[in-house]
Amino acid sequence: MPFKALNLSDSVLRGVQAAGYTDPTPIQLRAIPVVLGGGDLVGSAQTGTGKTAAFALPILTRLGAHRRGQPARVLVLEPTRELAAQVETAFRDFARFTDIRAVAVFGGVGYGVQRSELKRGVDIIVATPGRLVDFLKTGEITLKDISILVLDEVDRMLDMGFLPVVKDIIARCPKNRQTLFFSATVPPEIAAVASFALRNPTRVECGVNRSVNKSVNHAIYPVAFDQKFDLLVGLLQQTNFDSVLVFSRTKHGADKIARRLKDANHSVAVLHANRSQNQRIEALNGFKSGKYEIMVATDIAARGIDVAGVTHVINYDVPENPEDYVHRIGRTGRAQAVGDAFTLVSPENFSDLRDIERFIGQKIPELRLEGFNYRPIVPRPAPPEGQGQQRRGGQGGQPGGGRGRQGLRRFGSRR
Ligand code: AMP
Repeated sequence: MPFKALNLSDSVLRGVQAAGYTDPTPIQLRAIPVVLGGGDLVGSAQTGTGKTAAFALPILTRLGAHRRGQPARVLVLEPTRELAAQVETAFRDFARFTDIRAVAVFGGVGYGVQRSELKRGVDIIVATPGRLVDFLKTGEITLKDISILVLDEVDRMLDMGFLPVVKDIIARCPKNRQTLFFSATVPPEIAAVASFALRNPTRVECGVNRSVNKSVNHAIYPVAFDQKFDLLVGLLQQTNFDSVLVFSRTKHGADKIARRLKDANHSVAVLHANRSQNQRIEALNGFKSGKYEIMVATDIAARGIDVAGVTHVINYDVPENPEDYVHRIGRTGRAQAVGDAFTLVSPENFSDLRDIERFIGQKIPELRLEGFNYRPIVPRPAPPEGQGQQRRGGQGGQPGGGRGRQGLRRFGSRR
């Protein structure tokens, strides 16, 4: 079914066309009619599935045109500044043939620009909870006219300790409203918020979050802890990458990796929560434009960000939280592209890796970089019969020996 058949307004359809989309993704097909019909919705969709347009397009159609001198009618809550900025940009892009106005409201930057946009009058506010509360206190934002409330990435709101303030914000919106609720997982705390916020919601599930995006090839590279950086450099050298996202568990680790990569003559951006908002914007924009070929990031900073054309994700550290594995590697292979995602694993993290494999319900193939001078490590315990393709052999009894060439061909052969 083409977008045309979904009853979106003509001006929104033109925005979709200008964005270069031809066919709706599965979540768009399922969510757009529900949102257009005014119903509440609970959506669980993997990142990269087109979730943003699934709510933005029908919302813009429902709003119709800018309402001068009236308070905002749509509030979208996002857990991070990057997501707020990204979702607001998507709204603006899709709304470019309308006069609808959107503003992003988030902390870490001055109040001035956001304040003057609010004064000018907006229809849509895309906000992180903290800065929104600041503007509610000063009376510069009122929620009394909100008719559509979007709670996005609610599980991350929980991780970041935002749930109490989110509940408060929900309670300040009119009861008679439409609510759209997106969360990859629904633990009991989130189920409680959902039942408080929603009325007879339609459930739309597109790919449960445990599953790894099918367009991503992923693999692990076992390596001694103190050889991780050398292996990273080796992988980068032997790869035709266009843009690589490298994940570190810690902010300090991210800075250190970036420093060493710069010393090795790579152009590198860094994204983590200790950087100023301006530094974060510069890093993200530079990475998007190709100024930086590599971006080193931590999980919170990178959650949900959309960078078209990320060709490789390298987990320098195994994520602590199995769910973050799915999110991290979801940064590549977005929409219909194909991406490669690799995880460096030292023996201290074999048990974390086991947790991830249990979580995603599959064994991650093991690879070895041809020609790399591996130091011996304790091999990974063998999986039960019939699972995975782990083999011993190669230099120093390194696990995964023998698959290196095959892996490298895949790693470097995409473009
Ligand atoms: P999202 O899951 O909303 O972060 O979207 C993931 C990526 O898919 C973004 O780069 C979108 O621009 C892109 N996208 C969303 N919907 C479509 C579509 N129908 N056709 C092609 N690309 C899309």
